[in-house]
Amino acid sequence: MNLTGQLIIGAENVAATAGTMKALNPATHEWIEPDFALGDAAHVHQAAVLADEAFDSYSHTSLSQRAAFLHSIADNLESVRSELASRAALETGLPQVQLEGEVNRAATQFRQFGEVVRQGRFLQLAIDPAQPERQPRPRMDHRLQKIAIGPVAIFGASNFPIAYSVAGGDTASALAAGATVILKAHNAHPGASEIQARAIRQAVQEHGLHEGVFSMVRGAGNTIGEALVDHPLIKAVTFTGSEHGGMALYRRAQRRPAPIPVFTEMTSVNPTFILPAALAVRNGQIGDGFIERMLVNVGQACLRPALLIAIKGPGLETLRSAMVKRVSEAAARTMLTPGIHASYLDGLKLMERAGARRIAQGGASHADFDGQSALLEVDGVRFLSEPLLAQEVFGPSALLVSVDDEAQLLAVARSLQGQLSAALHLENSDLALARRLLPVLERRTGRIVVNAFAHPQEVNYATVHGGPFPATSDSRFTSVGMSSIERFLRPVAYQGFPDVLLPEALREANPLQLPRLIDGQ
Ligand code: NAP
Repeated sequence: MNLTGQLIIGAENVAATAGTMKALNPATHEWIEPDFALGDAAHVHQAAVLADEAFDSYSHTSLSQRAAFLHSIADNLESVRSELASRAALETGLPQVQLEGEVNRAATQFRQFGEVVRQGRFLQLAIDPAQPERQPRPRMDHRLQKIAIGPVAIFGASNFPIAYSVAGGDTASALAAGATVILKAHNAHPGASEIQARAIRQAVQEHGLHEGVFSMVRGAGNTIGEALVDHPLIKAVTFTGSEHGGMALYRRAQRRPAPIPVFTEMTSVNPTFILPAALAVRNGQIGDGFIERMLVNVGQACLRPALLIAIKGPGLETLRSAMVKRVSEAAARTMLTPGIHASYLDGLKLMERAGARRIAQGGASHADFDGQSALLEVDGVRFLSEPLLAQEVFGPSALLVSVDDEAQLLAVARSLQGQLSAALHLENSDLALARRLLPVLERRTGRIVVNAFAHPQEVNYATVHGGPFPATSDSRFTSVGMSSIERFLRPVAYQGFPDVLLPEALREANPLQLPRLIDGQ
């Protein structure tokens, strides 16, 4: 596929008006052809008007039509798998085989959401039939279904250039809900973004849908993102990236004349607690597993475990040695962008200034953007007195916190901010402490894992990828898994309607044979 470098606004390829950019190969520091168009607020407006025009017809597609459309996106992604993965590898420095896996995951997500749509449970249909005889006042017939919230803006993430980017879970869940989508491509992988956008547009055309169902814009600096969040036709925003960026967009959306929900997924250190009996018997094994997960994607993964808490005692020394060995053996690997590499180095310096001691580092960097792994250690007293030590350093590093006793371990847990996940390693004799720790963790995280790590993640019905601030801006929702569709839905009730005027899913005869709650049953 020849990359055009142009913006994709509905059916049109649109040339640059705000200059051009090239992709950077972070491994070789070379610019890669071709030039990519940078758009401006006028392009956002053009895409938003189209998305709004497309909304009524797209959100009213039948469930089977919409499911078939999502399946076609999956097919189209798979048909460009190796081309997409090799372009993404050039632009990110991530291994091609891993990126082919990401294409598979993205395609699977579209198919899974196709099934969610077919099953129709997401509509959350409820019927409270009329009770004309009810005293003292008759009850009218009420029927509820969820509908799509409107056109949505999705910010593609930098760290998973496919599964969290243009054809990622946000796009799949928004399209499944019946929302139309304007995607803000991340400038770290413009070529991979174009290939994905064209696969989605091809499916729009194959199914005869309105061209405004999907557009992709790109811009320099913050202007394009700000224009998207400000645009009155946009009704929700999703974002994966830094806390700084996410909160800037969140605050901006709340200042609009008509505020809208912004679902940001931002930062998490995914604390791992090793309880005493587990530490005594599985020390080395846990240390090994922890570092293996910490190094995934050169530490550039939201579920990377970055904080390990253990009580001083039998097994701690073996745990530490296993972690030191594993980190020392890790080769430095290319990080995604010069900016992410620079903030990784700054983050490590800040941790050391805050009192963390570097106890191991990986192989030396051979190139400018290589991330050298690091293991830091601090004691519980210092950790509790310095909030900076609990901050995420995005990259291949971790902090070991050795605490004096159970009380200090619980104090460390209570000091933590919101997280995407937490893990507990325990044996039977640790259950009493685990029961004290659980309520503390439930209040601070979206997922608790026992005797394993949060990574790799399942994408399914019980998946939660969310958590209290600053892990996300809205802990009521998940950004991954089948229930992530709920971010793009809102309820509408139909009261006293004649049957013929009701949405098909709510008609008396239940022609779509969908599950419905009738009078609460
Ligand atoms: P980012 O700087 O937050 O940018 C993410 C996206 O949001 C980009 O498309 C960016 O556009 C846009 N954006 C950011 N701030 C904006 C603003 N104020 N107004 C309008 N648009 C804005 O994230 P990143 O580039 O992916 O990586 C930077 C840092 O984010 C990393 O070092 C890491 O700390 C964090 N991060 C965390 C996760 C995670 O899963 N926890 C994932 C990725 C990144 P431009 O590029 O055009 O500015």
